Amino acid sequence: MSSVNRKMQRRQITLTTDELPKRWYNILPDLPEPLPPPKDPETGESRLKALPEILLAECLKQEFSTDRWIDIPDELLSIYQQAGRPRPLFRALNLEKRLGTPAKMYYKSEFYSPTGSHKVNTALAQAFYAREQGFARLTTETGAGQWGTALAYAASLANLKCTVYWVRAVHDWKNDRRGFMQLFGAEVYASPSNLTEVGRKLYEKDRNHPGSLGIAISEGIEDAKKDKNAIYCLGSVLNHVLMHQTIIGLETQAQFEKIGEYPDLVISCLGGGSNFGGFALPFMGDVLTKGKKVKFIAAQSQAAPNLQGEYKYDFADHGELTPLLKMYTLGHQTSLPPIKGDGLRYHGCSPIISLLRDKGYIDTVAYPQDEKQVFAHARTFIQAEGFLPAPESAYSIACAIDEALKCKQTGEEKVIAFNISGHGFMDIPGYREVLGLK
Ligand SMILES: *Cc1c(COP(=O)(O)O)cnc(C)c1O
Repeated sequence: MSSVNRKMQRRQITLTTDELPKRWYNILPDLPEPLPPPKDPETGESRLKALPEILLAECLKQEFSTDRWIDIPDELLSIYQQAGRPRPLFRALNLEKRLGTPAKMYYKSEFYSPTGSHKVNTALAQAFYAREQGFARLTTETGAGQWGTALAYAASLANLKCTVYWVRAVHDWKNDRRGFMQLFGAEVYASPSNLTEVGRKLYEKDRNHPGSLGIAISEGIEDAKKDKNAIYCLGSVLNHVLMHQTIIGLETQAQFEKIGEYPDLVISCLGGGSNFGGFALPFMGDVLTKGKKVKFIAAQSQAAPNLQGEYKYDFADHGELTPLLKMYTLGHQTSLPPIKGDGLRYHGCSPIISLLRDKGYIDTVAYPQDEKQVFAHARTFIQAEGFLPAPESAYSIACAIDEALKCKQTGEEKVIAFNISGHGFMDIPGYREVLGLK
């Protein structure tokens, strides 16, 4: 049969490897006003002076750079390909039909990540720079486990060692994910551990101490500070992390360009802001510099609705080791109830996203803590499209579906772009529990 006259509906928009973006987008010079810099608290040691000990030199440089475009090193571009980039943009035709919406829905497939989340985009960059700078080992903390897995993977590809301090309350039951990190050769410790001063004090008092992200961060930093061959890595919140993640949005822009469309709505879930920022900031650049009109929505949990907090200077960690950052925060020592989308459970939002939120460029929605509504929407997506999203990504999907249903009522044919930050193959127990699957 001749294929000349066959018309196929487009469901997947791909880029060739040659079309992989060669630069990251740095939004700092395009922000409506300068980003308030990090600062020191009034008492105690200078956290700012300690920054060069904590962060990779190249990342620190990127953190404050005002260059709009930062070249992605050639070798890293090649590693991005190895990680499956560029990733397709899908048209959710089945989902649209099921919802009966006139909206056109498109989703970006970060679920194709080797470890299951978008976090590999910055993990690979940080491991690359660490190796360039002669480090032999990376240290970090992890909460839900996605970041620890991403860094373990990136370290492994770069031939570096990796030590992960994992909040004990999660470490002790996510055996498969721990095994995944160990397969990459990482050393994984429940935190608080007896390997650091910070950890030991707590561990000796209570060997079953549940730990917290703040404690685990302190352990990762202390470990790296004591070993000149080791460097600490952070997976969200900071400017350079969001910038590494702009590879997601830059690809998506090129994909929309290919089909002659442009999104009216850009949606993603938000914990610290890295996948939302990575997806949305290139489009935000169009709004700020080209007069484009786009509505941005950050989907959150009522367990940690940090964008509804206060816009003020606060610490990024529980233990107050970091400088103060100007951000939307719920308070750095506020305890937040656990949820299945645990990657969204963080007290503060990245300074860049916070500034844009303060200036009215970003809307937010927070879904109920029991996650029933979110997971029910995710199930609709799974049944229509077949991909299994991470619990965090389910928030992005829920928000996109809600917006598509609004279009159904108004009859508007909006173009909705949403990001699916990861897959949920290690999170079936969470789905089973929330949806009551027998
Ligand atoms: C960590 C994580 C998030 C939340 O973190 P951000 O920095 O806000 O992106 C969202 N989705 C997945 C899959 C994650 O692993």
